[in-house]
Amino acid sequence: MTPLVDSHCHLNFEPLNAGLEDVLQRARDNGVGHMLCVSVTLETFPEIRALAHGHLSVFASVGVHPNEREGREPTVDDLVGLAKDERVVAIGETGLDYYRSHGDMAWQQERFRRHIRAAKLSGKPLIIHTREAADDTLRIMREEGAADIGGVMHCFTESWEVARAALDLNFHISFSGIVTFRNAEALREVAKQVPDDRLLIETDAPYLAPVPFRGKTNEPAFVRHVAECVANVRQSDMDSIADVTTHNFFTLFRHAVPARD
Ligand SMILES: [Zn+2]
Ligand SMILES: [Zn+2]
Repeated sequence: MTPLVDSHCHLNFEPLNAGLEDVLQRARDNGVGHMLCVSVTLETFPEIRALAHGHLSVFASVGVHPNEREGREPTVDDLVGLAKDERVVAIGETGLDYYRSHGDMAWQQERFRRHIRAAKLSGKPLIIHTREAADDTLRIMREEGAADIGGVMHCFTESWEVARAALDLNFHISFSGIVTFRNAEALREVAKQVPDDRLLIETDAPYLAPVPFRGKTNEPAFVRHVAECVANVRQSDMDSIADVTTHNFFTLFRHAVPARD
């Protein structure tokens, strides 16, 4: 079987960081060939860069999560500079989150715009997080010309209408363990409809473990359960889903060079 790719995880977060070699071994044992470790602050980016330089199976992104309030605010130049690293294949995660942050969201929107500008300048695609903010997310993507660089709507939980709009903007759609949850029937309907060439899968580990590990610590090895669920709803099989999503990953993140063993 083609190895799977976990297109979005946080290997530097507790408790994954403490047992990293075991986490990576279990990923390999479960047919996961590559992972994209996603940045959420500038302060922790060096950890991610080190991980990606130390492990050929791990790629890095650079960005500041929309909910982060503590750390340094990134400039476009900061992001473009850090994205020059050969192991950095994407800009993000960025986007809008009106679920966890409240009040005047201008600061979040400005930060999102800077990430889109940095992605276009660096030639590396976007990883977009959106929660209860789909209209503004799509509007800013359009206003900033995000379609020119493309990317992925990660941990997708929105409607088909939102998926369709993101697809029209040259974006991929990535499904996490949420798609396996019992009450996620509407999301499975969306997962059924995404075109083959835009489909990605992820864990968002250590959060959102798929069924049958719901509520436990998530890790990249569990992306196979996301793949199984997506295969089921699409009336496909694991082999085809692995082929399609791994091919899509390396096509979208074209700076990611697959490790050979
Ligand atoms: Zn996210
Ligand atoms: Zn994330």
